[in-house]
Parts: sequence; C-alpha cells; structure tokens
Amino acid sequence: MSGIVIIGAGEAGTRAAFALREAEYGGAIAMVGTEPNMPYERPPLSKPLDGAVQMKAICTAEALDAAGIEYFPGRSVSRIDPHERRVVLSDGQALAYDKLLLATGARPRQLCCPGAERALDFRTFSDASTIFSRVESARTVAIIGGGLIGMELAAVLRGKGVAVNIIEAASRPLGRAVPARFAQSLHARHVEEGAGGLRRTPGFPFSSKPIATG
Ligand SMILES: Cc1cc2nc3c(=O)[nH]c(=O)nc-3n(C[C@H](O)[C@H](O)[C@H](O)COP(=O)(O)OP(=O)(O)OC[C@H]3O[C@@H](n4cnc5c(N)ncnc54)[C@H](O)[C@@H]3O)c2cc1C
Repeated sequence: MSGIVIIGAGEAGTRAAFALREAEYGGAIAMVGTEPNMPYERPPLSKPLDGAVQMKAICTAEALDAAGIEYFPGRSVSRIDPHERRVVLSDGQALAYDKLLLATGARPRQLCCPGAERALDFRTFSDASTIFSRVESARTVAIIGGGLIGMELAAVLRGKGVAVNIIEAASRPLGRAVPARFAQSLHARHVEEGAGGLRRTPGFPFSSKPIATG
C-alpha cells in the first residue's frame, strides 16, 4: 500500500502526520523535509535564551518510529507525478502515494536590489544561528520588514545593545499583524527602546518569485 506522502516537515506537516495516526489512519505515512533536523518549532528561533538559539523539537525520532511515520530529512520533493501517483526526491528516490499533502509553508520574499546577496533571511534554525552569531560583533543592524518577526528581532537586538534600523514599505510597522492602535503603541515602545524609528521605503525591490516553495 502506498499511503500518504506529506511534503514539508514543519509544524503543519508533522502535526498532520501524528493527527492521522490519532484518527486511526492505518496506511503508510512518509514525510519529506528539506531541512536536516528533526521537525522543530520556529517561534523559539527569535526568542534566544541567554544568547543561545533554541531548538524546540516537535517530536523525537522514537516518536516518529513508534507512530510508523517514515521521515526523509534533508531532501526536497523536486517533482510530483500525478499520473503515476509518485513524488521524486532531490536524491532521485521515488515515493508512491495514494494521497499527497502539501505542507510546504512559506519563505521570505527575496530582495533583488544590488547587495541583496549579502542580506540574511530569518526563517530556519540555520538562519537564526547565523544571525545571532554575526550580531556578536555587529554594532548596527538594518532589518528589512517591520512585521512581527522583524520587530521581535529588533527588540532582542536592542537588548544586546546593538543599534537597529527597521525599514518597512508600509506606512506603519505590524500593519498586517495587529490592530492599528496596538501597532502604534508597540512601535512607540520600540522607538523608546532605541530601535531607529521607522524608515519607510515604498516599493522596496522584492523579487517577484513566488513565496511558496515547490
Ligand atoms: C523566526 C520566526 C518566529 C516566529 N514566531 C512565531 C510566534 O511567536 N507565534 C506564531 O504563532 N508564529 C510564529 N512564527 C510563524 C510560525 O513559525 C509559522 O506559522 C509556522 O512555522 C508555519 O508552519 P508550516 O508547517 O505551515 O510551514 P513551515 O514552518 O514553513 O514548514 C514548511 C517546511 O516545508 C519544507 N519544504 C518546502 N518545500 C519543500 C519541498 N519541495 N520538499 C520538501 N520539503 C519542503 C520547508 O523547508 C519547511 O521546513 C514564527 C516564524 C519564524 C520564522
């Protein structure tokens, strides 16, 4: 029996795999994830403890084994063949499926301006480790994007004494995340703490590449 293949081993993919077992699904479950780690939660990445990036695993290898979930870390699905009902992984391995679940999440929009190749993304454990190790020697950091993650990072960096400038394309930060009044008071608090106000850059050059991975 070919069972279910889950593409993406983030919070959604992993919780779905266990939920299937809780719902007494008896077929095979295979889960493929691009990252090399055991599935982990992203929220702790922006909340380092004593300067250390936290890795909070969603489950252990033993729990996956016990639930009969086959995990393929460090590999991407590079092709879906719906006629043959199979996916092909980046290492060439093919997995057959009856049902396919796409849980590929999101990724940061890529900048396409000169110097963009030097900007760091903040999405994965590896990104967080790179960012927090580099800021050890940084005096000033520019954060592009004043959403929840950008503003949270600004607060953490200010706590480390790093000067921070936040660059945001919209007229105010946190516009998509919280109501306007709350956004204003959070912004004011950041300014009070010394995060370099808000620099508005309408039309900041993002690439038009799709956000979702595939
Ligand atoms: C730094 C940070 C802090 C956050 N803080 C909070 C918070 O405080 N509160 C909150 O509610 N939310 C927070 N979030 C958001 C939350 O983490 C996301 O909503 C959640 O991770 C979404 O889970 P997901 O499984 O849908 O997607 P993702 O976590 O993006 O997982 C998708 C996975 O699929 C993999 N994938 C993609 N394409 C393929 C492919 N072709 N083949 C195989 N694998 C593939 C990706 O590599 C990824 O590992 C934060 C996010 C970040 C980055």
